[in-house]
Amino acid sequence: METGIAVLQLPESEARRAPEGDGGNESVDGDAMSRNPFAGLVSHLRASWLSGKTRPMEYRMAQLEALGRLLDDKKQEILEATASDLGKPPFEAELSEIFLCKNELRETLNNLSRWMKDEHVDKNLAMQLDSAFIRKDPYGVVLIIAPWNYPIQLCLAPLIGAIAAGNCVIVKPSEVSKKTERIVAEALPSYLDKDCFAVVTGGVSETTRLLENKFDYIFFTGSPPVGQIVMTAAAKHLTPVTLELGGKNPCYVSDTCDVTNVARRVAWGRFFNAGQTCVAPDYLLCTIEMQEKLVPALRKAIDDFYGPNPRESPDFGRIVSDKQFRRLRALLCSGRVALGGQTDEAERYIGEAWGHSHLHPCMEHISAPTVLVDVQPSDPIMQEEIFGPILPIVVVTNMDEAIDFINSRERPLALYAFSSDDKVVNQVLERTSSGGFCGNDTLTHMTLTSLPFGGIGNSGLGMYHGKFSFDTFSHHRGCLKRGMGWEPLNAPRYPPYSQQKFGVVRAAAKVTHKNDCTLL
Ligand code: NAD
Repeated sequence: METGIAVLQLPESEARRAPEGDGGNESVDGDAMSRNPFAGLVSHLRASWLSGKTRPMEYRMAQLEALGRLLDDKKQEILEATASDLGKPPFEAELSEIFLCKNELRETLNNLSRWMKDEHVDKNLAMQLDSAFIRKDPYGVVLIIAPWNYPIQLCLAPLIGAIAAGNCVIVKPSEVSKKTERIVAEALPSYLDKDCFAVVTGGVSETTRLLENKFDYIFFTGSPPVGQIVMTAAAKHLTPVTLELGGKNPCYVSDTCDVTNVARRVAWGRFFNAGQTCVAPDYLLCTIEMQEKLVPALRKAIDDFYGPNPRESPDFGRIVSDKQFRRLRALLCSGRVALGGQTDEAERYIGEAWGHSHLHPCMEHISAPTVLVDVQPSDPIMQEEIFGPILPIVVVTNMDEAIDFINSRERPLALYAFSSDDKVVNQVLERTSSGGFCGNDTLTHMTLTSLPFGGIGNSGLGMYHGKFSFDTFSHHRGCLKRGMGWEPLNAPRYPPYSQQKFGVVRAAAKVTHKNDCTLL
């Protein structure tokens, strides 16, 4: 995919606005284009937004329904593209890229008319004759920047919220997942209104230029360091942001649990999409006794899921790039390899299929599902988000130590706690802080459209999914509409002031404490 503006057939006048009959100015405009190649695109979308076209509910519904058709029509292409980019098994691709987006679409289409309604709010005595309400206004022109690990879902799920809220949108998919980037760039403009929705492709330099423009909202999904770059660029224009970032998600396993079930649920969460999932359990915290029990249970789970040779399993994904593969391999010098990568290589081997196949080079990268035991907090693997199929176990003496460990680190996007004792799960929930929480399972909390999804602190800012997406992309505009008459009722607030007038104003506008006794 060539980088640059991929879609929106800009009218010539917008793309290169050369004043009539003055060829000399063309170079001036050319200079402007090279200085800010996306200015024309952004201003075209802003003009569309200002025209009010995206505001009617019927328009929004029609665009959302078109997205649904895109997902149906392009399903096979999406499965092939994600298989090529990430070796994504079709089951995982259909579930995580298509099914979850369709759920978001259905939830939005079912509820949009209700969500869009003005929300009438409580009034004080002085305003009983007036109308006070929250209007859900679109922000305007929104930029959505997506990563490569769920390259369809992480473009489309926020896009659904942005369309539902009545915005115009530029989507910037990841340049790393090339085949999927191409689908997004080619398909979106053929299903959505080109005057209001566009795709910009490219990597760091294109995104940097894009971010120079003033947007009304930026929704970014990616790594914390790039999140900082995006937030800094947004700050120049005072643009509000949602940052969906990553980090290390702890998973505490108490001594009282069904070890087989824990192992299956953890292994699924860790090795889904070859571990390249922002909410994957990043490391386990448990006692030495539990570690002893978990290793054989994890071995059994991995064997049940992927067979004795995961490299041959159609259900185990691939590492996206050379860069990621090398980064992961370097992390293996932590603790001791208990499972995975054994074959004929040295103990720190991660299965590497340098074959002669016709696959995309990245397809030849496989990291075997790997479990590291006796990992120290100071080990390299505990210093960064793993984002691959490696599961370290850090030994703690009890739950209190696990909680202290969690609280001494950056606040994670997801936190998991396993125990047959509900009190233990509740303790972990109550004494920690994280973007989301799931007791006795992994990943599944993010599949509910009724739960907000987002990080806190280093793992992000803001939330989305279901109605939370609609709210994220809507400005909640506080509105009061008063009548023209009844002027004597306003007299107490006008000068000349007096204590008596203040008493009247206070009585009419006071918020009463619920414990105040009205008889006194
Ligand atoms: P990334 O931050 O490298 O890239 C994300 C996007 O930002 C891409 O579109 C990329 O082109 C762009 N980008 C990269 N560098 C940039 C720069 N210097 N200036 C401007 N734009 C730039 O992230 P990634 O490697 O694509 O994805 C992995 C990260 O994303 C992990 O940290 C993961 O946890 C996180 N993630 C978070 C969520 C979530 O929902 N919270 C979901 C998926 C992934």
